[in-house]
Amino acid sequence: MAHVITDSCIACGACKPECPVDCISEGPIYSINQDECIDCGSCAGVCPTGAAQPE
Ligand code: SF4
Ligand code: SF4
Repeated sequence: MAHVITDSCIACGACKPECPVDCISEGPIYSINQDECIDCGSCAGVCPTGAAQPE
């Protein structure tokens, strides 16, 4: 299991520094490396749009 980022991402950047394993990549829509995510939920906790969520 991993978290994913949906197309409601507004690229605010809030999630990236919260990730303990640094598996979030910047972009027009941010993305999560599914092989590295440990499903901690920190990104979902700070995302203002609910784009980061459990898979
Ligand atoms: S759930 Fe945790 S490990 Fe996975 S991308 Fe979000 S902050 Fe990183
Ligand atoms: S916190 Fe949410 S809206 Fe902001 S970059 Fe991350 S996924 Fe996108």
